[in-house]
Amino acid sequence: MKAAVVRAFGEPLVIEERPDPEPGPGQVRVRVEASGLCHTDIHAAHGDWPVKPNPPFVPGHEGVGLVEALGDGVTHLAVGQRVAVPWLGRACGRCEHCLSGWETLCEQQVNTGYGCDGGYAGKMLAWADFAQPVPDGVSPFDAAPLTCAGVTTYKALKVADVRPAQLVAISGVGGLGHLAVQYAKIAGATVAAIDVTDEKLQLAADLGADILIDARKENVGEVLKRYGGAHAAIALAVNDAAFEAVNSGLRRGGKLVMVALPAHGTVRVPIFDTVLNGTSVIGSIVGTRQDLAEVFQLHAAGRTRVIHETRPLEAVNESIEAVLRGEVKARIVFDLGAGR
Ligand code: NAD
Ligand code: ZN
Ligand code: ZN
Repeated sequence: MKAAVVRAFGEPLVIEERPDPEPGPGQVRVRVEASGLCHTDIHAAHGDWPVKPNPPFVPGHEGVGLVEALGDGVTHLAVGQRVAVPWLGRACGRCEHCLSGWETLCEQQVNTGYGCDGGYAGKMLAWADFAQPVPDGVSPFDAAPLTCAGVTTYKALKVADVRPAQLVAISGVGGLGHLAVQYAKIAGATVAAIDVTDEKLQLAADLGADILIDARKENVGEVLKRYGGAHAAIALAVNDAAFEAVNSGLRRGGKLVMVALPAHGTVRVPIFDTVLNGTSVIGSIVGTRQDLAEVFQLHAAGRTRVIHETRPLEAVNESIEAVLRGEVKARIVFDLGAGR
């Protein structure tokens, strides 16, 4: 099988031919059909964060494909079944977080494409208990972006406890943001979408955003305040200043949900405004298996649209450059041709 491998941080990925991996107990081998390019994979390949992966590694945590081999003890998945392999590759199942519905906070978790090899490959391993069955009728190319971009933004809106009649600001309409706009609309909110390119603002409008804010030309906080301020702001732009801008547009009692992970990111939060206005700053990391099941269910019911363009895995390096230049409409999905 072929795989795109990070051999050293900051260097181009290398396409390698590798032997098919053998599933251990509790694992399955997946013939990958589609694999999304999340901005997190770029952070991983660049070694951007305090906790780093160990090169060589295969990135990718939006891999979707068909189960082709079962490891010992796997009884609930069948060969030929379509599954998605998310960032939460496995969690311990026993700690206080796992037991209280917060498996995403498990300290024993292994992250796909970071702590173990991921989906930029013809074949990959997955822990069966965390491989998410993809419902019939959902294409692998739609399922891939839902596996991280979808579940992460769906969860961020749950964390913000968004209600109808609220104003929600979505800062950054990229892979994550284009789905965030839709989940906020499904929750009944009025949506203000913020970005820095005409194409992204047009995409947000097409997906139902009510208010468009061009952060190149407008003061984000002031515009949001003109509408009374945001009840919730979901920070998805890979830019520290964008966090501060949208935080300044919260209404009293509003919530800033931090999701994007810029390298060395630090945000200045004014103490006086935060105290007097009773605002909250909350971090949100991906979503649980149940959240992902709900994301797939909504898509199978025709309630979301996934905007993606497909490319061969061989185009991985130029694809990363295109994301960094902001030239991708929403999500790039690699076509792995089911393990060719
Ligand atoms: P992306 O590159 O597809 O999207 C980022 C968007 O932000 C682009 O549309 C870009 O034009 C826009 N943008 C850039 N500067 C801006 C500014 N100043 N104001 C407003 N918009 C601006 O990236 P993505 O794949 O959507 O990922 C976004 C971030 O979320 C990354 O840092 C990624 O690592 C992180 N992430 C976090 C989680 C989590 O669980 N917390 C999960 C997945 C991704
Ligand atoms: Zn991701
Ligand atoms: Zn745990």
